[in-house]
Amino acid sequence: MSAATAANLSERLLQGDRSALARLISWAENGDPRFGPALDLVFQRVGRGARTGFTGPPGAGKSTLVNEVAKAYRERDQRVGILAVDPSSPFSGGALLGDRIRMEERTLDPGVFIRSMASRGSHGGIAQATVDACDVIDAFGMEQILIETVGVGQAEYDVVAAADTVVVILCPGAGDGIQAMKAGLLEVADVLVVNKCDLSGADRVVSDLEESVHVRFGREHEFPVPVLSVSAAKGTGITELLDAIESHKRWLEAHDLSALRLSKRVERIRQVVDAEISAALWTVRGWNAAARAELEQGHAPHRVASTLAARVLASIPSPGDPSHGRT
Ligand code: GDP
Repeated sequence: MSAATAANLSERLLQGDRSALARLISWAENGDPRFGPALDLVFQRVGRGARTGFTGPPGAGKSTLVNEVAKAYRERDQRVGILAVDPSSPFSGGALLGDRIRMEERTLDPGVFIRSMASRGSHGGIAQATVDACDVIDAFGMEQILIETVGVGQAEYDVVAAADTVVVILCPGAGDGIQAMKAGLLEVADVLVVNKCDLSGADRVVSDLEESVHVRFGREHEFPVPVLSVSAAKGTGITELLDAIESHKRWLEAHDLSALRLSKRVERIRQVVDAEISAALWTVRGWNAAARAELEQGHAPHRVASTLAARVLASIPSPGDPSHGRT
């Protein structure tokens, strides 16, 4: 393999080279040190794409729905990047079920880019790698970026947090599982979809969710989360879904989308800084051995932790400190 550099890969990305896009996402996924400099070079072009996350229990129809949504955006002449993310799987390389379904139809369309990512213990975590991958897809020029998780849970919520708008997909027949997950799902949802409304029992799920949403979101200053009946298999309700996503984006813009993005970016900086500091402390600077030595002297772990943390913190200046930046 050629020794790609941040400079040549980012240039190729801006020229529309899809293999450069794929390679940059691998760098993000693997925590390659060349990723940061490459992203820096294209960062001016980041921020134009709309980012929508799709999460929900396995089998709810996420990949079928994302495929329909992508198709609908293509009919509107918008270019689409799809990121299927499995935060709990150590495997990657396109083995996700959703890919197989979508690949057949969409890979020949140059206006669609599909990629799956899994957690390879990536630097800063899979949530971070997702944000990074979205940024390069955005810089590449995709107007719509769809992030799909394979399941539902805290790790998946962290992944879809990379999106501006989160669509939660449920379906009839999932039973008690939904009840258990409902609080977490309602917490992250901007749009709720009851998929498979061609099946019986869908109306019941819709009214149940409407009730919960009403309780949860009855407050002012909250986006009124819609509950939509969709059949991804039959292609019904897709236009309404696109409209709901669009109205959430307009709502965000009216309520300061840029502030939201800024705070997400600060959070992202925090995660990367935390990961770098932690790696440096424990592996490079030898604090592992220091902790061991303290424990061997008979101190309790909590006490050792406070002592070590205090020693580290004492050596870190605040940003406004005159000695900041000096070594
Ligand atoms: P995922 O695991 O959430 O990505 O779900 P899939 O998209 O793989 O769909 C799971 C199953 O549900 C597949 O057999 C789909 O064909 C089926 N399915 C998806 N959407 C619908 C729908 O609207 N109606 C019905 N009846 N089946 C659907």
